[in-house]
Formats: sequence, structure tokens, C-alpha cells
Amino acid sequence: MVRVEANRREFLRWLATAGAGLAAAGIAPALFAQDAAAAGLAVVVVRGATLVDGTGGPDRPDSAVVLVGDRIAWTGPAGALPPLAGAQVVDGRGRYLIPGLWDMHTHGLDYEEIFPPLFLANGVTGIREMWGYAENRATRAKIARGELLGPRVVMGSSILDGPVSLLTPPVTKVATPAEGRAAVRAAADLGDDFVKVYFYLPAEVFVAIADECRALGLPFGGHWPYRVGQVDAARAGLRSFEHLFGLPIATSSRRDELLAVLAATPFDPAAPRDFFNLARELDRQATQAYDPATAAGHFAALARHGTWLSPTLAVNRVISSPAAAFAHDVRLKYVPQDLRDYWADRITLFAPTTPQQIAQQHAYFEALQRLVVAASEAGVGLIGGTDCENPYVYPGFSLHDELELLVQAGLSPRRALRMVTRDAAAYLGREATAGTVTPGKVADLVLLDANPVADIRAVRRVHTVVTAGRVLDRAALDGLLAGVEAAANRPPAAGNARSARLPVRGCC
Ligand SMILES: [Zn+2]
Ligand SMILES: [Zn+2]
Repeated sequence: MVRVEANRREFLRWLATAGAGLAAAGIAPALFAQDAAAAGLAVVVVRGATLVDGTGGPDRPDSAVVLVGDRIAWTGPAGALPPLAGAQVVDGRGRYLIPGLWDMHTHGLDYEEIFPPLFLANGVTGIREMWGYAENRATRAKIARGELLGPRVVMGSSILDGPVSLLTPPVTKVATPAEGRAAVRAAADLGDDFVKVYFYLPAEVFVAIADECRALGLPFGGHWPYRVGQVDAARAGLRSFEHLFGLPIATSSRRDELLAVLAATPFDPAAPRDFFNLARELDRQATQAYDPATAAGHFAALARHGTWLSPTLAVNRVISSPAAAFAHDVRLKYVPQDLRDYWADRITLFAPTTPQQIAQQHAYFEALQRLVVAASEAGVGLIGGTDCENPYVYPGFSLHDELELLVQAGLSPRRALRMVTRDAAAYLGREATAGTVTPGKVADLVLLDANPVADIRAVRRVHTVVTAGRVLDRAALDGLLAGVEAAANRPPAAGNARSARLPVRGCC
């Protein structure tokens, strides 16, 4: 990176006087400039792009954005900039600058040669990792120390589930309230950012987890715990429901009848998937009995309790499609063989096979898409995530799929983008530092070759990514992709991809 040399002082002096944006963010511009000069921070200017800043304000053609170190220092008309000798200039003319994207439901970060670079190469500069364990915590620490290039990581706890579970280790099975509380304290001790709850938690254990989270100030979210009503879970403080599980039932005229069926059905330790399959089938049936009045009441309760929905349409689409639908995706070249094998095997647990099943699952998926739009219109908070590492859900690429599916559902491109930028930051309590292109916030940006507000598919046309102030131009991004492809296709024993040392984990 080119450092500002002779003109740096002058440039920063200008910034000190032109720093109204910084001042608005509560940062004294003169002090900021002084500190930046003292630290010798690099100055980067993205000049000439149309700025789609994510605040909801009008798009601004021919803008300039000045980055100092890992922060956004100034935004304004390109014509208002002083001479820029010494600064690294990124030519944004004819392009569109948006905030860095957040994938709010990921797994697999510890495939270090695969997942972190694929996120960045696709403009995903922040992720919410939904299952914490030793290896991906270690990867997060490497990224934080600057030893590995990767996105910002918000780390979930170990998945907390009941004594019966669909998952294998490192899931944490908790059978009693005391064990639930201990698991929450363990997550806090490990520095996890939130607690992840799962399907088969006994109700009294869920209540204890919620209480302990409240006591420690730790957010919690996850799957619908089947033994707890969705509104009760929301009232207890659950921050997000993942995948829309249970939402069709909760918004249907058959709600009470279907919930009674589930309540009367035990979790079978010998066949733990049976209950999940039953619940999913009842959810599917419930989509045919959608009731606007029931839905309005449910959405109002979620909104009132500040509980968000994380639709993960990318994974929902895969599991409601025939297995062969994704078998020849060109992006498979970025996926290690062990993960490809796992995907091919795993998909058979879900994929419809008969023509009737295929039609039913297709209709089910479309109904889920309609629910997302209804929830949005009702004012329920929405975040965008993919559930990557699950079959045919790719780090990075699949967030573009997610956005396209959200727009296909009926959200505007701007609304969909908001889910993975400003709203993601708001959900995470990072609205002061992330989510929009605003002075004072972190320098996580994506420069696109086309206008994503006109056509959401433009998010695939990544020209440059800025991650914590570091500029990755097209050549650098292509280098990342080439590195991933090489690592993915190396014989396992030759590499240090996770596949060489750890079994693929089932994920959720
Ligand atoms: Zn999940
Ligand atoms: Zn997941």
C-alpha cells in the first residue's frame, strides 16, 4: 500500500477541517488526523463511484470516499477533494460502492484455505459463525491477529441442544437447567459473542439458558426450540430464529392443532431425525393454511420482542430441491473433495425424489419466500445468511444467491442489501461502527462493476474489496480464488486444509 508521504500532513490538515462527518460520529477530526499522521496510516481514496452508502439516503454519483487506516474518514463529492498526491487512489468511475456484506449464518471458517478467502473474494467482509468450537475459534483469533486474511467474525457458542440431538460432537448436550447455565458461562469464558440454541432443548433448560444469558449480557439465538412456543422464546429474549423453522405453523390457521401434534410426539433417541422430519412436514402443510390475521399477531409479537428472522433461503432452496439440481455447479471447483463427498451424501437426507415430492417442496420454498416478504412488511427485523458448509451452500458466492432469492421473493434490491449491511450491523449492536459507508465506521467496502439497486445480480460483479482498510483489487481477488481452487484440489494429505486433519462436521 502506498503511504502518503510529502502531502500527508497537508492532506490530514485538510481532513481536520473537512471532518464534519467524523464529528457527527463523535470523533474529533483534528485529533483523528493527528493520530493518523503520528501512526503513519495509509490513506486510500475511492474516487468517482456512485456511492450506495446503505443509510437509505439517495445514491450519490461521482463520490469520493477517503479511508485512513482501517476507518472511513470522509465521504463527499469527488470534486471537493484536495490534491491527493501520495494517497492510493482506487478508480471508481462507472462503478458502485456499497458497504461490505455480512453473511449472518455461516459455518466452516476453519477451512482456512477455503472459507476466509472465498468470503472476501465475494465481498463478504463480516460473518456470524453459528457453531463455535476450538478450531474455528482459533481461526478467528488468527484473523484478529492479522496472521490470516479473512472477514470479521462474530462467533457463536457451541450449539446447545438437549440430550437427544441431530448433531454429533462438538455439540453440547444439556439435560438440566444447571447444565444449561454452565454451558452459557463456558461460552462467556471462551469469549463467544452469542449463545446458539437448538431444536431439542427441554423447555426448562431453555428458560435457564435464557436467564443465564440475560444475567451475563450475552445475546442468544438459533433454531426454534420445539418445546418452547415461538412467542415465549421471543419474550425470553431469543434474538433470532434461523431458517424460518416453525414460522409456517405459527402463521397458519392450523397452528394450535399442529403444535398439539408436536407436543404429543416424543424425541426418539434411536431416531432423532424423525421429529425434525415431522416438524418440517407439518411446517410444509401449514404453508397451505396461511392465515393473515394469525400471521399479523405473530409478526407483531416478534417485532415487539426484538426477535429477528434469519431466512437462509440459500440452504432452504437446496434442501427443497432434487439432489441432482446442484451437482454440476461450476463453483464446486472451490470445494475440497471431503466436503463434496459430505454434500453428496448429506443432501439425500433432504432432497425430494418423486415428482409429487419435488412439486410439494418447490411450493413450500415459494411459500417461505412469501413469508419473508410478509414479515418484512410487518416490521419484523431480517438478516441475510446462507448456512454455508451445508450441501451446495458456498462461502461468499451463496450470499449473492441469498440476495437474489430475497429479491425474487419480492423484496426490493435495496431492502435485500440492507439485510446484509446496515441491518446486520444493527442486529449485532455494531451500528456505530459498521454497516454503512459513513465517516468513523470501519473501512469495509465493496466496489461493483454494475448497479446492485437496479439489478441485485450486480453484487456478483466485484471489482475491488476493502477489508479493514486493506484494498484487494481484482487481481488480488483472482489470486485468492486461484489459491482456493489449488488448495481444494490438492490431495488431502498434501495440504493443511481442514480436510487434512479434521473430519467434516455435520452442521445445521
Ligand atoms: Zn441452523
Ligand atoms: Zn447453520
